[in-house]
Amino acid sequence: MTKYVDAATTRLLVEAGCRDLGESRPQSLWDKAAALANCDVRWHMIGHLQRNKVRRTLPLVHLLHSGDSLRLLSEIDAEAAALAAPLSVLLEVNISGDSSKHGFAPTEMEPLLAHLQSLRRLDIRGLMAMAGLEGDAAQARRDFAALRELRDRLRTVWHGRFALDELSMGMSGDFEAAIAEGATIVRIGSALFEGVDNTHASP
Ligand SMILES: *Cc1c(COP(=O)(O)O)cnc(C)c1O
Repeated sequence: MTKYVDAATTRLLVEAGCRDLGESRPQSLWDKAAALANCDVRWHMIGHLQRNKVRRTLPLVHLLHSGDSLRLLSEIDAEAAALAAPLSVLLEVNISGDSSKHGFAPTEMEPLLAHLQSLRRLDIRGLMAMAGLEGDAAQARRDFAALRELRDRLRTVWHGRFALDELSMGMSGDFEAAIAEGATIVRIGSALFEGVDNTHASP
């Protein structure tokens, strides 16, 4: 997650071998993708995507982690017609139930299937979540376990229509617990930049 640093520092990460980079604001992703256009980077859109920013963002994105409403997913499906391949998307789940968080409630996920099947330009690759803001390490681990169990259940319900191989979970403070519970992608930000005097970009 490069949202804390500017393009020059981001470039250092690329030179160190990080090729999967994430941003949480569309505008920052556009700017960094332009600044690093000559680099071999796969951009991950991690934060909430407003519908009016879909068109400009999609062509830049390798994986959208924040599929957080059916309305947004429908909009993305329509815009993805202009892309060469289906867009890889994760469904964001509000696994902890925090009212401030985006994402589907766990109970919404099963009924969502019927709607997603008609969105042919989306490749639903898995689920994304954050642990609760209030909880301790043990609670974070329970949240991650709950996401994995939800994924396992949806897989059987959805009969392989969506493989749901990816679990995007874990940040600087809790990635060990996430990995222990089956994360396939962790989203590490601040831990990469400790001691770096370069926080021009705002999260
Ligand atoms: C900023 C952010 C991260 C990275 O968080 P750190 O605690 O800095 O590692 C991960 N996921 C999301 C959704 C974020 O917004």
